[in-house]
Amino acid sequence: MQKGKINVTTENIFPVIKKFLYSDHEIFLRELISNATDATEKLKALVRSGVSDIELGDLTIKVEVDKKAKTLKIIDRGIGMTAEEIEKYINQIAFSSAEEFVEKFKDVDNTNIIGHFGLGFYSSFMVAKNVELITKSYKKGPGTKAVKWECDGSPEYTIEDLKTRDRGTEIVLHIADDSVEFLEEDRVKGILDKYCKFLPVEIEFGEETTFEEIEGKKDKDGKPETKEVKKPRIINNTLPLWKKAPSDLKEEDYDNFYRELYPMQMEKPLFHIHLNVDYPFNLTGILYFPKVKKNIEVQRDKIQLFSNQVFITDNVENIVPEFLTLLHGVIDSPDIPLNVSRSYLQSDQNVKKISNHISKKVADKLSDLFKDDRKSFEEKWDDIKVFIVYGMLSDDKFYERTQKIVLLKNTEGKSFTTEEYSEHIKAAQTDKDNIKIVLYANDAESQYSYIEKAKERGYDVLLLDGVLDNHFVDMMERKLEKIRFVRVDAESIDKLIAKEDTQVSKLTEDQQKELQPIFEKDLDTQSFSVQFESLSETEDPVLITQPEFMRRMKDMQAMGGGGQMAFMGDMPDSYNVVINSNHPMVASMIDDKDDEHKTKIAKQLVDLAKISQGLLKGKDMSDFIKRSVDIIK
Ligand code: ADP
Repeated sequence: MQKGKINVTTENIFPVIKKFLYSDHEIFLRELISNATDATEKLKALVRSGVSDIELGDLTIKVEVDKKAKTLKIIDRGIGMTAEEIEKYINQIAFSSAEEFVEKFKDVDNTNIIGHFGLGFYSSFMVAKNVELITKSYKKGPGTKAVKWECDGSPEYTIEDLKTRDRGTEIVLHIADDSVEFLEEDRVKGILDKYCKFLPVEIEFGEETTFEEIEGKKDKDGKPETKEVKKPRIINNTLPLWKKAPSDLKEEDYDNFYRELYPMQMEKPLFHIHLNVDYPFNLTGILYFPKVKKNIEVQRDKIQLFSNQVFITDNVENIVPEFLTLLHGVIDSPDIPLNVSRSYLQSDQNVKKISNHISKKVADKLSDLFKDDRKSFEEKWDDIKVFIVYGMLSDDKFYERTQKIVLLKNTEGKSFTTEEYSEHIKAAQTDKDNIKIVLYANDAESQYSYIEKAKERGYDVLLLDGVLDNHFVDMMERKLEKIRFVRVDAESIDKLIAKEDTQVSKLTEDQQKELQPIFEKDLDTQSFSVQFESLSETEDPVLITQPEFMRRMKDMQAMGGGGQMAFMGDMPDSYNVVINSNHPMVASMIDDKDDEHKTKIAKQLVDLAKISQGLLKGKDMSDFIKRSVDIIK
């Protein structure tokens, strides 16, 4: 037996390993199984390419727990190692200096930095007080004897030749007293399910019970009798869907895989994108569009990230653009440096390229859907709208790629592209300054009367009731030329789209001044400001509007956006009480000498206007009802 010292520059690397990976001990199993998988895949490649002609045989990786002996074993039949290779790959820890390592990551808590430094194997010391590595290389000839390496967590190790052993590597972890949880079958199964579910080499752990038909035996109903059979349990699906060729797959396969990934999701995904990139980086995966509806938040963090089929995380923040985190599915790339801190990821060029690529693919897919089947695209629109708008708002390139397919839906349920819509409203909705006015409602119910009036005028009204529509409106105004969005209740119908010909007022300015205080009586003039406008006779006598600009400021503030506005305190609602000076009823008030009656009329008209905006409440409402009964009498 030989003794040696692991070559690290600081005295002892093991306390460092323990300290830095403290919160994430379970990943040792992922690291060891990844190593076993790599060793197996390497051997397969050697045989495939003809470099080696050995018999592969059964390549299943076995995980075994022995509670009594307090050991956890990981056994593979991969390439194995010679004594020389152990010296090179295990004894010379693959980073320039442990001090540098400590220095660099002293502020990083948690995170999987170990693998990045080629320390995967040593993560076993997070949970084991003693580790044996028993291995035999696939190579033939002298110097390829089986060897056993052993280390107790100090920098000293021993290495000895073994008489004989099968090809491959067996890692025996003597679990430390503070880590006995890793001797529990359920705990180990849980870790394997989490990280190893889609590994390319079969992983066997424990047994499972199945029922098999007994040949020739039937029960009294004529059904074949079954017996319980115990079988080795295979943890993983070695060829997950994203590794298969899209041409071999049916829609149903994608739906089934979706259910496998998200057993709790009741709804089918709307559609999927199968990613497959070789150059300039390696990436495979499947992204699903879920039904997002209006609820953005709950759906996040569902994309699962893999590196060569090893699960890494389902927190893909910083790896895919923020808006894409609304999607579901898997991304698998060995080119994402998964084992480093998240702040590092943000500046990583590979990550940026990957992120751009995914964004482009998603936009392309959407464009294809639009082109190939507009009808079905329109049907799905309500579900994908939030996603697209979010993407357009946060990524200019995505905006460029999707602006031609973004749909505007009007209150009648008809859909238009922005180009089509611009054409559609051209004749009626261009104002005197040659600006196209897009009218919209954000609540078809409460803005019903305004919408109807606009329609009577021959105007079209869009329904923009999505969570991001405030931002959408802002963005469209910025991007499109000579277009302005105005909510239907922002002005009286005559003023919504300013045309040249303005009505002359039936009331003089003096007469208006005389009536003004009557309308203002008992009115909260902080929120309601009375103004006269000469509208058409057929327009309501009094109406309440909410000026576009103020309302948008307030909406933005309510959404928590708007930067500085957050410091301005709560903005009061502000409405205009527009008195139609051309309405016969208003005009006749001038000749009414009965002050009490005049006030009653004014109040009744203002209240009616408030009702149409859903603003009449409490005492005002009850007064209104009493007054109305009075008037009917
Ligand atoms: P990494 O896997 O990041 O290179 P590790 O510390 O996990 O770092 O492993 C170091 C090296 O030891 C591996 O690159 C590989 O050459 C060798 N090795 C580890 N485990 C095995 C195994 N099960 N079979 C063969 N070689 C192995």
